[in-house]
Amino acid sequence: MKATIFQGVGKVELQERPKPTIQETTDAVVRVVRSCVCGSDLWYFRGHSEHKVGPIGHEFIGVVEEVGSQVKDIKQGNFVISPFAFSDGTCPNCTHGFHTACLHGGFFGSGDEGMGCQAEYVRVPQAAGTLVVVPGSNYSDEVLASLLTLSDVMGTGYHAAVSAEVKVGDTVAVVGDGAVGLAGVLSAKLLGARRIVAFSRNKDRQKLALEFGATDIIAERGQAAIEAIKKLTEGIGVDAVLECVGTGEASDTSFAIARAGAIVGRVGVPHEVEIDAAGTFYRNVGMRGGPAPVRAYMDALLPAVLEGRINPGKVFDFVTNLDGIADAYSAMDERRAIKSLLLVS
Ligand SMILES: [Zn+2]
Ligand SMILES: [Zn+2]
Repeated sequence: MKATIFQGVGKVELQERPKPTIQETTDAVVRVVRSCVCGSDLWYFRGHSEHKVGPIGHEFIGVVEEVGSQVKDIKQGNFVISPFAFSDGTCPNCTHGFHTACLHGGFFGSGDEGMGCQAEYVRVPQAAGTLVVVPGSNYSDEVLASLLTLSDVMGTGYHAAVSAEVKVGDTVAVVGDGAVGLAGVLSAKLLGARRIVAFSRNKDRQKLALEFGATDIIAERGQAAIEAIKKLTEGIGVDAVLECVGTGEASDTSFAIARAGAIVGRVGVPHEVEIDAAGTFYRNVGMRGGPAPVRAYMDALLPAVLEGRINPGKVFDFVTNLDGIADAYSAMDERRAIKSLLLVS
């Protein structure tokens, strides 16, 4: 099969690899229909995070080819969404809703053979707990793109909003205009926020943020951005902050614009971030978030997509196939694209 292999900083390559097979009785093998490139793949591509040489990619939807003998509820031929992390769904961490901390779980796309998702086939461990069957068939390209976002970005943006405890009527700020930030805007809207402030200096992303429900755009950064929020909120700050970047500047801005008692919901993987313990203490500002348990949000988000209440697939603005994988990465690396979609089969 064809699989994308991370070769080192700035280099991904399509290679012929053995098609994965069932190794544990709890495994499934899925034929990939759509995959994509993630903002977190760029951290590796740019050399900001370590990744071993090997298969990469962690977001996909597809059709079940084969299941192990212990996998009961998932059948050959099922059309499925896979979260970016696999999980058994039964351990205490899963039952508390934190599937990314599953005691028998792990992550796709970390370099293990057969488990990179920018490929024709993927081996899925803990298939019964991990995969979500999508009812029906013959979905449009538009719906397929939205279903694919439930594998990561939409669930991750939603996790930022849930972690920040966005409530009906809130004023919410979303720091970050990548696919996750835009999904965060959509999530804040879904949870009933009244005013949603999106941070972006890019015209296309501003446009999509407004379409997803943003009411205000702030193009400034750093101190100027903090002052702009203060002006919008009569000096108080916002009720909830979604931090969807992970840099020190994004984190500093997020904590500075939170009102007393607000929570910063963070889903950007922290890179050189320091949290001010005393500053957050005196203002009672909270912090939650981490790797999104997107599996926990399927019950809320899958019907929203299938009923057409949300259309998060609009974050894909670059489409290619596996042969175009190098372009898919460079389009995002050069910020020519918000997110690259891969048509696999
Ligand atoms: Zn991802
Ligand atoms: Zn578990």
